[in-house]
Amino acid sequence: ATTTAIPTSAGDAKPPRKKGVVLGKDGKPCRTCNSLADFTSQRKTITKPSAPPKECPPDVEELGRSSWTLLHSITATYPEAPTPNEQSNVKQFLGLFGKLYPCWVCAEDFQVFMERNKVRAESRDEFGMWMCEAHNDVNRKLGKKEFDCAKWEERWRTGWKD
Ligand code: FAD
Repeated sequence: ATTTAIPTSAGDAKPPRKKGVVLGKDGKPCRTCNSLADFTSQRKTITKPSAPPKECPPDVEELGRSSWTLLHSITATYPEAPTPNEQSNVKQFLGLFGKLYPCWVCAEDFQVFMERNKVRAESRDEFGMWMCEAHNDVNRKLGKKEFDCAKWEERWRTGWKD
């Protein structure tokens, strides 16, 4: 089956990003870099289930949703007036997160985003807005609707107003 590579915006990488399923650094299809449908389409010996089986390793979408939940929740619990040490901690965390993120193509693009858009974390609102912009950068790349960043706090901290 023909598959579509997940869109990426960073430059050349190794292994090369060719059209089709994204490969891991071991040359095999990368589960955390592809949707389950794309990943299983490459594993012809496996009988494809009609619905995704429960409690399997995450694909790129499940990993992404869980990760955004963690990242936005960190901004939601971040102090309104962080100390220099607290600001430094989140910058270090995101620097390492960008290096360790299990979808390598996502990780590379996130690193490029952070290079061009330095983490802003002098207040909770500033950090929440920065994270929303980072998420919107991926939304745009994937052709998804952008989120209204004025609403980041309602979505991730206070809950929606009635
Ligand atoms: P998600 O995008 O996961 O969003 C979850 C919820 O967050 C939404 O339902 C919405 O309520 C809320 N939300 C949406 N946008 C925002 C925003 N801007 N600010 C605040 N809240 C928001 N996938 C790829 O295929 N290719 C990639 O290169 C890629 N890079 C990624 C990089 C990072 C750092 C992360 C964490 C994930 C990446 N992903 C990538 C995964 C991708 O972003 C999505 O998580 C995945 O496609 C599932 O999308 P979803 O529509 O379920 O909602």
